[in-house]
Amino acid sequence: MIACKCAVCMSPDKKDKRLRSSILIRSSQATVVVDTTPDFRYQMLRSGVDHVDAVVFTHSHKDHIGGLDDIRAYNFFSQRPMPLHANQETTDALKRDFYYAFADKKYPGIPELDLHLIDDNSFMVADLLFIPIQVQHLNMGVTGYRIGDFTYITDANHISDEELQKIRGSEVLVINALRKEKHLSHFTLQEAVELAASLRIPQTYFTHISHQMGLHEEVNASLPRGMELAYDGLTIEVKNHH
Ligand SMILES: [Zn+2]
Ligand SMILES: [Zn+2]
Ligand SMILES: [Zn+2]
Repeated sequence: MIACKCAVCMSPDKKDKRLRSSILIRSSQATVVVDTTPDFRYQMLRSGVDHVDAVVFTHSHKDHIGGLDDIRAYNFFSQRPMPLHANQETTDALKRDFYYAFADKKYPGIPELDLHLIDDNSFMVADLLFIPIQVQHLNMGVTGYRIGDFTYITDANHISDEELQKIRGSEVLVINALRKEKHLSHFTLQEAVELAASLRIPQTYFTHISHQMGLHEEVNASLPRGMELAYDGLTIEVKNHH
């Protein structure tokens, strides 16, 4: 956190250095980014990502869409607009926040975007089938995704029984856990641990971690078997992604 001098913000451990939450999904035919955070440009530079086929959004909070403008580097090399998959609420926010990319007369060099509205129905990006999972973030609807045996959910503090069914059977779950203390719109570590345990997921990673969570090594060592804190740069291999 900017200007914070707490033990986590001052930690020399790389795993305590967290940019905003996002994932990159790669299959044999597709490279998909979930959310373009304000750190998107640096995240792509850091990981050397030279091609993105599509962006899939979870919700419209700034820490999940703010870096979208930098998509234009991929426009430049691919010579095509970037497909974006987002629900109605997020689509409206993208059109407001990046109004210049949707103007009738466009200034040269701005991002070229190709919006695809999503709802409850699954959709394909190349060989990847995305199944939307509707979760609650206080009063806001957030879209989680099941892709084969992998499920990604961020910014939730409640998931209905019906939507939980869509997560069951996943081999790997990534889910948000902000900190240990109660929060209005995010699962706490305990809530996320209990959810993963109740779903009997073999391997769970916690993401969207605040500096208030504590040091990575200490918190990670306290977690049950099959559960770990995610960290920037973590790579996970999932066998079945169809
Ligand atoms: Zn701090
Ligand atoms: Zn949010
Ligand atoms: Zn967030």
